[in-house]
Amino acid sequence: MTVRINSSFPGGNIAVRSIDGKRIELSPDLRDTTTNWFYWYFEAEFGSPGEYEFHFDMPAIGTRGPAVSLDGGKTWHWGGGKVEEIEAFRYRHDGKAENVRFCTGIPYLQENWQRLHLPVTELCRSRQGRSVELFTHGSGPRKYLFSARHHCCEMAANYVLEGLIDTALNDPRQDFTLFCVPFVDKDGVENGDQGKNRAPHDHARDYGPASIYPEVRAIMELVMREQPEVILDLHCPWLRGGGTNETIYIVGVEPRDGQKRIDRFSAILEPESKTGNGIHYFQRDNIPFGSLWNTSANYTQGKTLGKWACGLPWRPLGASLEIPYANACDQSLTPELWRTFGRALWRAAHQYTAR
Ligand SMILES: [Zn+2]
Repeated sequence: MTVRINSSFPGGNIAVRSIDGKRIELSPDLRDTTTNWFYWYFEAEFGSPGEYEFHFDMPAIGTRGPAVSLDGGKTWHWGGGKVEEIEAFRYRHDGKAENVRFCTGIPYLQENWQRLHLPVTELCRSRQGRSVELFTHGSGPRKYLFSARHHCCEMAANYVLEGLIDTALNDPRQDFTLFCVPFVDKDGVENGDQGKNRAPHDHARDYGPASIYPEVRAIMELVMREQPEVILDLHCPWLRGGGTNETIYIVGVEPRDGQKRIDRFSAILEPESKTGNGIHYFQRDNIPFGSLWNTSANYTQGKTLGKWACGLPWRPLGASLEIPYANACDQSLTPELWRTFGRALWRAAHQYTAR
């Protein structure tokens, strides 16, 4: 045996097509995803030292190569080693750690969230019976809702949320109520699904009267009851390819007043993101409604949380914010950089609601 591939752990995902010596042919396990998508997460148990090649049959490797963990998924670094021009990466096994985990990006699972020791209540039960966490802090009149993992593979969003929560907890102005749903598609996160373009539609196309997911119905009820002034849904863009896939940006909305609120918020967020050594966000990177993929054709199945929220009667700021998987332009991203951006995001949101 040269290598054994395993994905039987939370978030695990891989389809092994063949193993021929040190050459391994793999695919992301698409499950109920209706299009190709690129999330995968597996552990390799190496039998002998040497250089291994992992080949994929679809776009599946980001700009910084795979994320690599030598301690069972606790800590991660970008592995580099992407084989030029083809969809493959190399890994030199030097015999130090026999079991090495590899993932498209840096994973974030329920066990990461539990390390924060934050008190949670249950938003609802998932369709597979898991408890979907709702974190609530404070009871002040300014209300905010932040969510992540409507698309369960978009893990960078949770590191941003960690920084945001930490800053909100330590904010001297405790005049607010903060609601966070860290894992909207909780089953998908723990099962290691793609989540994006799930049949018949995914969680981020489920807002409106025809909703099919208990998590989405529970969020709509929470929003209608609490009427937050800021409703921001954290996502990740496509895997790579320059342009907006490798920058932070906000997805524009159709109503003009909704877009004006996004513009006002963006103008606050840009300078906030540039204080300290974080990831710089530029308002010019936002994708207005009607451009690139952000057109009506992208929402025929249903609405995102942001698009649904921006038209509600009290006119909240409602939008999706996209956080890249591996790099913002030349900057390689890490959990700490994502958290730093989350801190800026909190400061900007709090400033946005100031009277
Ligand atoms: Zn998304």
